[in-house]
Amino acid sequence: MSFTAGRTYLAIPGPSVIPDRVLNAMHRASPNIYEGDIIEITHTVFAGLKRLAGTRHHAAIYIANGHGGWEAALTNMFSRGDKALAIASGVFGMGWANAAARMGVDVQLLDFGRRPADPVRIAEALRADKDRRIKYVMVTHVDTASSTRNDLAAIRNAIDAADHPALLAVDAIASLGCDELRMDDWGIDVLIGASQKGMMLPPGLALLWFSDKALAAAQQADLATPYWSITPRVHAEAYWQYFGGTPPTQHLYGLHEALKMLLDEEGLEAAWARHKRLAGAIWAAFASWGADGSGIGLNVAEPEARGHSVTAATIPNGGAGRLRHWLETEAGVTLGIGLGMALPQEPAYGDYLRIGHMGHVNAHMVMGVLGTMEAGLCALGIPHGSGAIEAAARALSAA
Ligand SMILES: *Cc1c(COP(=O)(O)O)cnc(C)c1O
Repeated sequence: MSFTAGRTYLAIPGPSVIPDRVLNAMHRASPNIYEGDIIEITHTVFAGLKRLAGTRHHAAIYIANGHGGWEAALTNMFSRGDKALAIASGVFGMGWANAAARMGVDVQLLDFGRRPADPVRIAEALRADKDRRIKYVMVTHVDTASSTRNDLAAIRNAIDAADHPALLAVDAIASLGCDELRMDDWGIDVLIGASQKGMMLPPGLALLWFSDKALAAAQQADLATPYWSITPRVHAEAYWQYFGGTPPTQHLYGLHEALKMLLDEEGLEAAWARHKRLAGAIWAAFASWGADGSGIGLNVAEPEARGHSVTAATIPNGGAGRLRHWLETEAGVTLGIGLGMALPQEPAYGDYLRIGHMGHVNAHMVMGVLGTMEAGLCALGIPHGSGAIEAAARALSAA
């Protein structure tokens, strides 16, 4: 028996659920791009983006997905042969490091597997860099593959403790609008986001923020090309220069609406608190499912090192794959695949899944996912501990 009729939920870590209000804001004929309200909207959007990142410095929008955002940042950070210290806590940290290496950056990799970065080892690597060749420390805030969250303030402290001049560049694509993030307070010089995760929009916008220092350094970066150079975008004299050409028209209306919802109506700190509470409900359910030796468990053991927008988990013996299939075909819920744990052709691939809980997500959506997962575990005869839904409800309702 299938229970899929009704509103479905794409519970994957991007693209995320788009609010009807954002869809409606985008549903319009193409505007005049020479004058009129799109100019106003763009200025409001840039001001909102700076509030979102917690910065007084510079914001830019590129028509690209997150991978494009990586390269947009890299072209403005480096010249060929420059050195970077890249920190990886999963597939996305590795991906960004590999992109830098492909572009001619001399990348020193600190690979923490699927674990959070150890700031002590970062400080050691920087102290060992006697001629101060490392220009940037590159780190992923929340690695969407492992759901590991890195402590950015501690990493900034490690750079300072090593008395190293390296700037700090952060991929916050998965965490922006979901996890606490304070660009200026935490000494972040380059920050990258994308539209299709916590920002509740379709893919298509890469968001970049540069500090004054990073912008000054960008003047020397010889990887920059006319389109990707950030300088004309943040110092735009003509409107088209903000986007290096035609603006992302409908996306701008959507982003304007999303920022209004996030910053003006809910409030950024309230949104962070919401994501934290909803994540806690998911973790509580997994703790119960994992009791009695079922083998079900989260990828990240320590709660303080877990991202609040995505959860990577194991359900052994192919249970994760079977459960994903059941939710998709019977319950109207799409869960994310495991990433970076096993290849699709390997048997262990079916042991991993991820739940996206980023952006336009509330209590009934998360309880709906957990409740249907519980039903699927029962329907499929997958061994699991009891009491998960009650534990999730208690985590949601705790004072
Ligand atoms: C999604 C994601 C990316 C890649 O974004 P795409 O839009 O898929 O190119 C990079 N880094 C992180 C942390 C992400 O979550």
